[in-house]
Amino acid sequence: MSSVNILISVDFLEGQPKTSSLDLISFVRQQGWMAHALCLGTNKESLEKITETGAEKIFFHSQKNPNPQILAPFLYNFVKEQKPALILASSSQHNLDLFPRLAMRLKSPFLSDCLSLKQTEKAWIIEKSLYAGKCTASCTLESSSDKTPIILMRPHQVQQQQTTSQNRDNSITELTWNFTENDNYTLTQKKQTQKTKRPDLTEAQIIVSGGRGMQGPEHFKLLEDLADTLGPQTAVGASRAVTDAGWCPHTMQVGQTGKTVSPQLYIACGISGAIQHLAGMSSSRIIVAINKDPQAPLFQKCHYGIVGNLFEIIPFLIKELKTVKK
Ligand SMILES: Cc1cc2nc3c(=O)[nH]c(=O)nc-3n(C[C@H](O)[C@H](O)[C@H](O)COP(=O)(O)OP(=O)(O)OC[C@H]3O[C@@H](n4cnc5c(N)ncnc54)[C@H](O)[C@@H]3O)c2cc1C
Repeated sequence: MSSVNILISVDFLEGQPKTSSLDLISFVRQQGWMAHALCLGTNKESLEKITETGAEKIFFHSQKNPNPQILAPFLYNFVKEQKPALILASSSQHNLDLFPRLAMRLKSPFLSDCLSLKQTEKAWIIEKSLYAGKCTASCTLESSSDKTPIILMRPHQVQQQQTTSQNRDNSITELTWNFTENDNYTLTQKKQTQKTKRPDLTEAQIIVSGGRGMQGPEHFKLLEDLADTLGPQTAVGASRAVTDAGWCPHTMQVGQTGKTVSPQLYIACGISGAIQHLAGMSSSRIIVAINKDPQAPLFQKCHYGIVGNLFEIIPFLIKELKTVKK
C-alpha cells in the first residue's frame, strides 16, 4: 500500500504543542503514513517539538485565535492545494468549532470523538463514540474518494511512542494569510481563559474531580491539596452540578457538555456518575471513585471504589501520599 499524506492540525497551549497533537503525529508515523503538521496560532520558534516528531512538512501561521468563520475559507484553499488523504485533529472545543465549517465547504465526511483509525486496501475504518458514550459505531469511509475526510480523535486515545525521528529534514512553510485583530475570537472567550499553574484538563496525566458531594466552593481547596500532592501533572475538574452552581468555572467541567478527558488516573470525589459525566471521562485509564453512597452509579464503572465520607478519605489520602513520597 503506498504511503498516504495525513495532515495533522496541531493544538497549542501557552506556546507549546499539546501532547494530544504530538500523539497524533507519532501515531500517523507508526502506521507508515506521511505526517504533515498544520500549526495555527504559533510562531517559528515554537515549532521545535514538532520538528522532533519527524513530521515531513510543517505549515504555520502566527495569528492567535482567529475566528473559525474567518479561518475556514483559508483552510479550504490550503486543503485543495495540499490534497491530504485525511485530516486529523483532536476533538477539542476549538476544533469542533472550526472543522465542521471546513468539512461543509469541502463537502467532506466529518467525524468527531473518534476512538480508533485504521486503513484497509480501500477504506478508512473509524470507531466513534455515540450517545454520550453509550455505544460505539464503526464507520467505513472509502479512501479512494476525492473528498478528504476530517477525523477528530478523542484526546490521548492514541498514545505517543518513543520513536527516534529518522526524518529531520522537515520543510517549514509560513502561511501568508492576512487576518486583522478584528478577525479574532470575541472577548467572551478570552475572559474565560484563566491562568492556572495546573495543566489543561485535556492534557493532564492525572485529574482530581469534585462533584456536588464537595458541598461548597470552599471545600475545593481539599482537591487542590490532593492535586498538589499528586504532582504538577495533576489538574482539577468538576461535574456540571458544581459548575452550574457557580462553585467552579465552566472551563473545569468534565462531561458531555464539558471537556472530554482521558488521563492515566481520574479520581472522582463526591460525583454520582451520571451518564453525561461518564461521557467525558470513561476512557480514563484508571478511575477511582470516592462516594459515601455504595449505590452510586460510578461504582459500576470505576476500577477502584472507596465508600465513605470524602472529607475523611481525602485528607487521609494526602497524608499517606506524603508519607510514601518521603
Ligand atoms: C443535556 C445534559 C448535559 C449534561 N452534561 C453534563 C456534563 O457535561 N458533565 C456533568 O458532570 N454532568 C452533566 N449533566 C448533569 C448530570 O446529569 C448530573 O446531574 C451531574 O453530573 C451530577 O453531578 P454530581 O455527580 O456532582 O451531583 P450528584 O448527582 O448530586 O451526586 C453527588 C454525589 O456526591 C455524593 N456525596 C455527597 N456527600 C458526600 C460525602 N461527604 N462524601 C462522599 N460522597 C458524597 C452523593 O452520594 C452523590 O453520589 C448534564 C445533564 C444534561 C441533561
